[in-house]
Amino acid sequence: MEKYFNAFLDSLMGTLNWTWKSILFDVPWYTNYFWGIIVLSVLVWILEISFPWRKNQAVFRKDFWLDAFYIFFNFFLFVIAISGFYKLLELMFLDIGIPSDTLTLINLQEWPPFLQLLVFFVLLDFVQWFTHMLLHRYAFLWEFHKVHHSVKEMGFAAHMRYHWMENLFYKPLKTFAVMVLGGFEPEQAYIVHFFAIAIGHLNHSNIKLTWGPLKYIFNNPVMHLYHHAYELPEGKKNGVNYGISLSLWDYIFKTDYIPEDSGLVPLGYEGDDEMPTGFFGQLFHGFRYKKKNKKPLV
Ligand SMILES: [Zn+2]
Ligand SMILES: [Zn+2]
Repeated sequence: MEKYFNAFLDSLMGTLNWTWKSILFDVPWYTNYFWGIIVLSVLVWILEISFPWRKNQAVFRKDFWLDAFYIFFNFFLFVIAISGFYKLLELMFLDIGIPSDTLTLINLQEWPPFLQLLVFFVLLDFVQWFTHMLLHRYAFLWEFHKVHHSVKEMGFAAHMRYHWMENLFYKPLKTFAVMVLGGFEPEQAYIVHFFAIAIGHLNHSNIKLTWGPLKYIFNNPVMHLYHHAYELPEGKKNGVNYGISLSLWDYIFKTDYIPEDSGLVPLGYEGDDEMPTGFFGQLFHGFRYKKKNKKPLV
């Protein structure tokens, strides 16, 4: 037990040290998530201000500062989550006599780096799509996911407003996906992570983008706005457009829904006025889930 604790502590300290070095620009630029997220945020914000979809939306929209704080809060959790858990799991598997490549279905070792990243990206996106759908299907998961859906006015920073428990819900399938791929170091996939963050920021931004014919592959602000819509279509009351970076899965599994593109659809969910408006209230939201709310409303 002590070994695991030490391994976890080592990786945690390593991450804190790495984050501090990132803040001080003491790491290679393409590995710098801290400044990378800030630069991406400012870029998407400038695009929002220059080409607004909802022309009447304020530059500092409702909950702008709350969501800006979430960017930093969830950034640190993201970095911690990405670092230690894979290693810890690998260690545990080895100790109970299961080599870490037991689950390997595709060995990427000999593949060109670009293809390795592409396979990792597509697989990771699919398991996240699936997890996201579960967050909408099961009431106790939905209680936590409500934090993300409490956004009433959409802007890039809304991307990072989500309950810290979501990191735990997404983890098992993400870890499984990594284990299916042999000979691949997920920690090294900086491009994939930055690309996913950029798409996520854009999906929540006040910019009308659809990517033209590529909309069947890539998620976009028009599609994701309807994921946040207050009113959902008959027969799809659990949710629509679950896509993270790719829209592909929603088209394949028929969970796509884009009735129009004015950008003016009311957002939230029935009962969203009960969501605490401050960060600390939201931090503890979801733990007092009552059985009577059996069916998720959205
Ligand atoms: Zn959702
Ligand atoms: Zn969203």
